Amino acid sequence: MGLLGQSSRPPLLAVPPTAAADLLGGSGRAKIVWSQLRDGRDPFEESSGLGHKARHALELAFSAQPPHSLLTSTVSACGTRKLLLRLRRGDEAVIIPQGAFSTLCVSSQVGCRQGCTFCATGTMGLLRSLAADEILAQLHAAAAAVRQHGMPPLRNVFMGMGEPADNVEEALSPGERQRRRGRSYVCVSTVGPSPGHIRALEPLPARLAWSVHAADDRLRRLLVPTTRHRMSELRDAWGETADRGLMAEVTLIDGVNDGADAAASLHGLLAPLPGKTRVNLIPYNANAGLGAAGRLFRPAQPEAVRAFQRRLLDRGLICTVRTPRGNEESSACGMLRVEHAKGSRASRGDLASSVSDEFKEADTARMQ
Ligand code: SF4
Repeated sequence: MGLLGQSSRPPLLAVPPTAAADLLGGSGRAKIVWSQLRDGRDPFEESSGLGHKARHALELAFSAQPPHSLLTSTVSACGTRKLLLRLRRGDEAVIIPQGAFSTLCVSSQVGCRQGCTFCATGTMGLLRSLAADEILAQLHAAAAAVRQHGMPPLRNVFMGMGEPADNVEEALSPGERQRRRGRSYVCVSTVGPSPGHIRALEPLPARLAWSVHAADDRLRRLLVPTTRHRMSELRDAWGETADRGLMAEVTLIDGVNDGADAAASLHGLLAPLPGKTRVNLIPYNANAGLGAAGRLFRPAQPEAVRAFQRRLLDRGLICTVRTPRGNEESSACGMLRVEHAKGSRASRGDLASSVSDEFKEADTARMQ
C-alpha cells in the first residue's frame, strides 16, 4: 500500500482528500479509499471494494509501499496495546480499550523538546517532527490492530506524545481529516509553550487540553523546564481562546504537586477563565525509563488524588480523575520507544542530567 513510500508517486496519506479524489477520478472512489484506510485495510487489495478501473487509477497515482511496519508491541494486563511502528524512522501508537470503545494516543513528534522531567519521551530530546502522513499512518496502524485483535472500535484520538504546538501545521492536517470520521473525537494535549503557540493551536478542529502540571511558576519550571512564561500569561492566552471551554490536565506526582497548596494555586490560576473549565487529574505513571531520576517521581497516592479532586470540586471546578492504564514496565508514555532505542542506538542525552540540580535540591528539601 502506498502511504509512506519513497517512489516518485506520492504516498496516499500525504495527499489531501480533495486532491486524492482528482487523482482517482472521482470523490466516490476517494471515499471508498478513505473508508478502507480508516478501517485499517489496504485499498490496493482486490477485496477493497474498488472496481478494476479505480484500483488501476490508484496504482498509477500513488506509491504502493506499505505505510509502516510493526517493530514491536506490548499488551498490558488492562488491555492497553502499544505499537512501535517504523514510519520514516520509528514511533509509538497506543491503543487503550475503554468499555465499548478504544482510545488512541498518537505521536506528533519523535521525542520532544519540552523536556518534562517526569516524562520518558522528554528524555530523548526532539529527534524530529512527524509529517501529517506519518501521524495518519499511526491511525491506520491502530485501526488495523483493533480489527486484528478484536478490540473495541476506535473512537477517541489523543495527540499526546511530542508537543503538537511545536508541529502545528502537520498536526492540523490529521485533525481535519480525522474530524471527517464523524464519530471520533480528537483531543490535543499541549504544555502551551507560549501565548503565541496557544493562539496558533486555536484553529485546530479538536478539543484542546492544557497540560498545566503546576500552577506555581517555580514548580512549573522544575517540571516543564522549557517554560519561559509566567503561568498567568499562559492562562490569559487561553482565556482569549477558551470560550469553547478548556480541559486542564495535571499529572499528579507524590509529594511534588499533589498537596493542598498546589490545589489552591491551580484553582487560583484557572478560576478567571471564561467558559467551562474541566480539570483532569492523571496520577503519574511510574516510569522505569527515567533511570536514576525516576526515584524522584512516584504516583500520587489514591487518597491524595481524591483529596486534590475534592478541593477543586469544593471550589466549584469540574474535576475528573483519569484511571491509570498501561502501568506495567514499558507501557508508560515513550517507554517503548526508549526501550527499543537502547537496543539500537542511545537515546539523546542522559535523563539524569535532564533533571536540574535545582530540582534535586527541591526534592531533598521535600524529603527533610
Ligand atoms: S510530557 Fe508531553 S510535552 Fe512534556 S516532554 Fe513528554 S511528550 Fe513532551
